Amino acid sequence: MTANLLDFDLDGLAAFCERLGEKRFRATQLFRWIHQKGASDFDEMTDLAKSLRAKLKTAAELRGLKVLSEQASSDGTVKWLFDVGGGNAVESVFIPEDDRGTLCVSSQAGCAVGCRFCSTGHQGFSRNLTTGEILAQLWFAEHHLRERLRLAPGERAITNVVMMGMGEPLQNYAALVPALRVMLDDHGYGLSRRRVTVSTSGVVPMMDRLREDCPVALAVSLHAPTDALRSELVPLNRKYPLAELIDACNRYLEAAPRDFITFEYCMLDGVNDGPEHARALVDLVRGRVQCKFNLIPFNPFPASGLKRSPRERVQAFAEVLIQAGIVTTVRKTRGDDIDAACGQLAGEVQDRTNVHKRLTRQPIRIQPISGESRQETR
Ligand code: SF4
Repeated sequence: MTANLLDFDLDGLAAFCERLGEKRFRATQLFRWIHQKGASDFDEMTDLAKSLRAKLKTAAELRGLKVLSEQASSDGTVKWLFDVGGGNAVESVFIPEDDRGTLCVSSQAGCAVGCRFCSTGHQGFSRNLTTGEILAQLWFAEHHLRERLRLAPGERAITNVVMMGMGEPLQNYAALVPALRVMLDDHGYGLSRRRVTVSTSGVVPMMDRLREDCPVALAVSLHAPTDALRSELVPLNRKYPLAELIDACNRYLEAAPRDFITFEYCMLDGVNDGPEHARALVDLVRGRVQCKFNLIPFNPFPASGLKRSPRERVQAFAEVLIQAGIVTTVRKTRGDDIDAACGQLAGEVQDRTNVHKRLTRQPIRIQPISGESRQETR
């Protein structure tokens, strides 16, 4: 079987070139052609010897992903649906802003974590993406956008990558790390470690490994101030509860490119958005971990049974955090008209595992911060 060169970071490509009897520096030339220039045909690589190009044609390929659809929002957001075979598809979203272009990248087809408010979680888990499939999203988007936006040579469309699309990136660690290395490599996309963010629901042992192997910016999906509520919303909390998670965040900060962790908090009407939740969050983090909060308006999808918090409630919640000296932002919803907002990256919910039915049927047990509990069916 031919090798897909998108599967390799620079060291992997050098080893591959050596196996073909070529010098390591050829790998750098090849790598630049692929990632910096977006070449997809070995014949375009004119400074490589013809003999090497001939070897590559028999031993290797550049296998991108087939684009199933592209949707552009009125606010400039673009969403692509990519075919990853076997009836599975993943999504990537480009979010342009004045000073940056961010690509939200998927790491798995589906997700096994099963967060209640997430349409990918309702889809169940199909499989991990390969390094090549993770990078193919960036490879396609960067070079497609350069053409479409008519960028000058050397200008980049994508300045930031967030691993916040479909899937829990730290549950696909072996494929993730080489992909991150290509994003950071000066011969690849040359992004700084501050501009590449991995978002996790809190896979504590893998946070420790990422700190050692490739410490990029880290976002943690928190969504609740207590273990009781978080275990309802993010089932992984039963395995790695809040105290362990906060400790892991502090260990991560020793190597992180930023001096804070971003906590993502999805605002769910009547579930986690009261002033008592905000005060409990302050108690959870103040003096314990350097952090910022990003409050995310929930994007309802039909099967969730959950509602978006009213704007005034989000503002009041943010105010409690800000008054406590915690930097807090409310995420702008982008691409609403094309279902490209956070937690909506599942396309039509396609459930092969009955996770969707299970999640929809289960009530969320809302335990008031004061102690006594009530049960709500959603
Ligand atoms: S929020 Fe992230 S970790 Fe949770 S189910 Fe969705 S994709 Fe998986």
